[in-house]
Amino acid sequence: MSHSLPALRRRASAQVEAAAQPDRSRGPVPVITVQRLVKSYGVGEAAVHALAGPLDAGGRPLGVDLSIHQGDFVAIMGSSGSGKSTLMNILGCLDAPTSGRYLLDGIDVGGLDEHQLSLVRNRKIGFIFQSFNLVPRTTAVAQVELPLAYAGVKSAERRRRAMAALSMVGLADRANHRPNELSGGQQQRVAVARALVSAPAMLLADEPTGNLDTRSTDDVLAIVDRLNASGRTVVLITHEDEVARHAKRVVRLVDGRVKSDERQAPVTGPPPALLDPVTFAEHSLHAQTGVQG
Ligand code: ADP
Ligand code: MG
Repeated sequence: MSHSLPALRRRASAQVEAAAQPDRSRGPVPVITVQRLVKSYGVGEAAVHALAGPLDAGGRPLGVDLSIHQGDFVAIMGSSGSGKSTLMNILGCLDAPTSGRYLLDGIDVGGLDEHQLSLVRNRKIGFIFQSFNLVPRTTAVAQVELPLAYAGVKSAERRRRAMAALSMVGLADRANHRPNELSGGQQQRVAVARALVSAPAMLLADEPTGNLDTRSTDDVLAIVDRLNASGRTVVLITHEDEVARHAKRVVRLVDGRVKSDERQAPVTGPPPALLDPVTFAEHSLHAQTGVQG
């Protein structure tokens, strides 16, 4: 057969690579651009618009517009049901919008098939979830190697890179521990190592500290701060102000629309916790009250 799986994979990844070369002739290109994005569940009168943007005179959603530049650290905030996870799932190419356009690193995601989407997810995005999503009964180093295995990286190189990622999150000495032998904070740090091992352009995190105590929350956020300082784009969903303080930009959603969009630090340069560590710590709710904000 001339269409062997490796050949098909190579061709699909060549297409992704080709599409991934953005036009840089007109200045910096956003990593993420969404235009008139709408996500609805159900139809007609019964439709729920999880992402709507402003409504037109007839009550129809005009969609959400948002762009995020390379190196930014964006917190998406909003109460339960405001559309945060819906937006995250679309940005992560885990779900498709009802209408509107999504460009990721110059690629029009709407034009990709399932296989190309899985390549984009594997190469360009590192996911961190509230519930860690680790594989049971599997050692930390094997978890971190997984994305590299999917990407076809050879075993010795996989091990080397996975160990480097575990060192980065301070868990080199826990490489052979399984999830049930690790604390919640350690499990989430393994998940962070897994998210960063493939050197993705963007980290997407949905309530990454939602299941963690104050101390582990600080550990994980310190790692995310450093990753952003080294140039990685971070999009982090949270409903906690204490977590959102770490971001350079805070986007608030209400009923599927952007209610406010505020900048806390410039896109280029370190995130707030590293820009001015002393002032940042002084204003920490943890430090002032000893309880989680
Ligand atoms: P958040 O993450 O901010 O809590 P979601 O994005 O999960 O909000 O949900 C936004 C809205 O879309 C909510 O009203 C929710 O009930 C609705 N929704 C989300 N997923 C579905 C689904 N699969 N079917 C129907 N409605 C959904
Ligand atoms: Mg949610």
